[in-house]
Order: sequence, then structure tokens, then C-alpha cells
Amino acid sequence: MSGTLYLVPTPIGNLGDISPRMADTLAQADFIAAEDTRVTVKLLNHLGIKKPMAAYHRHNTEASGRAIVNRLLAGESCALVTDAGTPAISDPGEELVSQCAQLGIPVCAVPGPCALVTALAVSGQPTGRFTFEGFLAMNKKNRRAHLESLRWEQRTMIFYEAPHKLAATLQDLADTFGAERTVSLCRELTKLHEEIVRTTLGQAAACYQENTPKGEFVLVVRGAERPEELEPTLEDGLVLVERLREEGLSLRDAVKRAAKELGLSRNQLYNLAMDR
Ligand code: SAM
Repeated sequence: MSGTLYLVPTPIGNLGDISPRMADTLAQADFIAAEDTRVTVKLLNHLGIKKPMAAYHRHNTEASGRAIVNRLLAGESCALVTDAGTPAISDPGEELVSQCAQLGIPVCAVPGPCALVTALAVSGQPTGRFTFEGFLAMNKKNRRAHLESLRWEQRTMIFYEAPHKLAATLQDLADTFGAERTVSLCRELTKLHEEIVRTTLGQAAACYQENTPKGEFVLVVRGAERPEELEPTLEDGLVLVERLREEGLSLRDAVKRAAKELGLSRNQLYNLAMDR
């Protein structure tokens, strides 16, 4: 019979958030798969746990994943941890869980710290319906396509971001959703310098353009408010056509894509673009 893969969350900044069940699961697993064994060994030392470890990170998911799955199939149990927060959420682990699910290997998630849920709860934004968007792509084209797909999103949107990319991301969000859209910048959650700034995307972008931010951030952006006023217009279509043209698309292809993305008439948009 195969062993179980345990997903064990770790504190996102406050060691007081370690739960007895997290510690027990780490202590009882046959081995621990860790994103960075140097980070995890500090946690294990704090808990007084000694355990064999295997490295499982984004650069070795295939080979290391195969080895972990084989050990699980042979009957060993594994606790998967990442540097901080819940494994498999914008962290290594998603593929391993999917492989285990396909092979019928039991997976057990221990609930615990997760930056997105902590940020949403404290954000002051509507929490009833939300969408988690993770990190925006670095690649310009994918990033733009991701943001365009969210232009009319009415649910609260949650983004992860690294501090050195924060200013550029806030500017891109302001360009997509408008400078007046509200955002909660949730910084250093659970840590000594935790700070929640509730402001607009325009103000946040301007502020961080001048000051390089420190610490970790989750951005919680309010969804579009009045859909009837926000229905895409032909003018919006023209703006998108121009951007796509800048990316090298022909007028015909740009119109085709923009019309499809915004639900506009291709002919009307084409005629208007030809007149400009
Ligand atoms: N799996 C983790 C989770 O869901 O908690 C997230 C890992 S992801 C690689 C790291 C990102 O989570 C950071 O770039 C930041 O956006 C967010 N994050 C993690 N810890 C945080 C904290 N203490 N305060 C604010 N954001 C944090």
C-alpha cells in the first residue's frame, strides 16, 4: 500500500503560527521534501526534529518528483514543505499533488498559513467572491494577455509580487483597471513591520515609483464595480488594436483579436480603425 503525501504549511513570518498538527506531521513523516533544505532545517531545529530530507524545487520537479512518487508508492510517507506558506500555491508542489492524484496516492493537506487568504481577510475588500491570480508573467505578451483577461473582472483580485517588481506591476494594474481603482497593499504579513495600505492604484504606483519598497507584498485589487457602465466600447477596442499593432500584429489580426477579447463587432472595429 502506498504512503501518504502530507502538504505541511509553514509560517509566512511568525513562528508562533506553527500548529501542533504541523509539528506532529513533520515529526511522523518518513522523510521531508523541502523547497530549500537550508531554510527547512532551521524550522526543524526550532522544533527539535531530525528527519531525512529531499530537495524538491522548481528546477528539479521532474527528477525529484519521480523519486518522491517512487518512495510513496513503496509505502513511505512524505511531508512536503516550501520556504513559507502553503505548498502548491504559487510554490512547488502543484505537479507532485497532481501526479499523486493520478496514481491514487493519498494526499492530505494540513491547513495553515497562506499569504493570499491572510491578505484577503485583512484587506477590507469584498471577500464573498474573489480570484487568485498569483504572479503576473515576466513575458510582456503573456502579462498583457493576463491583464486584459481581467479588465472587466468583478470579483476581488489577489496578486503576489516580489518587491523589486512592485512598482512596474502597480503601473500595469493602474493602466488596465484605471488609476482610481482601490487596492490594499498587504506588506510583511504576520511580521513585526506588517502594514496594510488601502489606497488607489494610481497613488500606489506613484508612491512606489519613487521609493523602492521593502518586504513581501500581496496586492488585493477591488473588482470592477458597475458592469453596465464598464461594457467595452469601440473606443476601448481601438486602444487594444493600437497596443496589439505595437506588438507587431497586422491591422487585420489586431482587429480580429481585439474584437474577440472584448466581444465587439469585428467589422465595426475594422471600419473605425481604417478611418483613424
Ligand atoms: N505558497 C505561499 C503561500 O501561499 O503563502 C506563497 C509563496 S510565493 C513563492 C511568495 C509570495 O507570497 C511573495 O512574493 C508574496 O507575494 C507572498 N507572501 C509570502 N509571505 C508574505 C508575507 N509575510 N507578507 C506578504 N506577502 C507574502
